[in-house]
Amino acid sequence: TGKKNGRHAVVCFDADMLGDERHRRFVERDLRAALMMNELELHYQPVFGSDLQIRSYEALVRWRHQVRGMISPAHFVPIAEESDLIDKLGEWVLRRACADLCDLGGKPVAINVSPMQLRHVDFAKRFAATLVELHVDPRRIIVEITETVPLNARAAELDNLDALRALGVRIAIDDFGAGHASLQYLRGFAFDIIKIDRSYVMNLGESRIDGMIVTAICDIARSLPVDVIAEGVETQEQFRHLKLAGCTGFQGFLLGRPEPLRKMEAIAAA
Ligand code: C2E
Ligand code: MG
Ligand code: MG
Ligand code: MG
Repeated sequence: TGKKNGRHAVVCFDADMLGDERHRRFVERDLRAALMMNELELHYQPVFGSDLQIRSYEALVRWRHQVRGMISPAHFVPIAEESDLIDKLGEWVLRRACADLCDLGGKPVAINVSPMQLRHVDFAKRFAATLVELHVDPRRIIVEITETVPLNARAAELDNLDALRALGVRIAIDDFGAGHASLQYLRGFAFDIIKIDRSYVMNLGESRIDGMIVTAICDIARSLPVDVIAEGVETQEQFRHLKLAGCTGFQGFLLGRPEPLRKMEAIAAA
């Protein structure tokens, strides 16, 4: 029920199966078991500076399913978000990333946090307790929040982000520009990092308007000032445009794919 193409291929659930309520319940049950049985993995994708040095890593969860093979988070995170599973998944991701931190060469690690997790009033408190328990310096953690879901002003979401930031955790807006209230987001919270959505990077060099939007985002980032990272950099041409626009961080298949930790250590040692 999926296709494999190359070593980075991820087996997908069929779209029609996903729409099926019964199928969702199956996935949910399987994922709950997978969490217990250690079938989840974190892969790490490097983020580069303009000097082409690695400045941080993003942790991306994968599900190594016994029958279906490697499953992309795009297929199970939305299902997890419909129940308390997202909290269990999020907690697993945080613990795994903290445990892996010592093998990441002193670089910070970014973890994706679902807006659903932020709705719990004690989220930041539990997050902080985990960092203390695992002896992790909060300054080495970046939390990425996707922009496509609205943050409610003065709600638990913002209080949690404030509390994390007070600890020294940096907060990034993920997929910036993909939602319909991107600028509202910037007004509502003092983010540390803006990640330009891949959809704007994709057509750089071909689309004049996308080039203008990317330049405008970089201008805003510079004057705030916040860091700006481009996602999904796949070609030299995109990379060149982004540098010209004033982008300071770069992530994408051109520079480095998400890889298991073991694989990355091998690369670093080579
Ligand atoms: P994201 O946080 O925006 O992550 C970037 C996605 O783009 C990743 O997909 C990454 O593999 C992919 N990517 C990176 N460079 C390129 C490129 O050059 N070209 C293309 N086409 N794609 C690129 P992935 O790993 O499938 O993750 C999809 C989404 O799932 C993530 O988007 C994030 O929103 C979510 N996700 C991943 N891990 C977690 C997690 O631990 N917790 C939560 N809540 N969500 C997660
Ligand atoms: Mg992300
Ligand atoms: Mg993103
Ligand atoms: Mg994205």
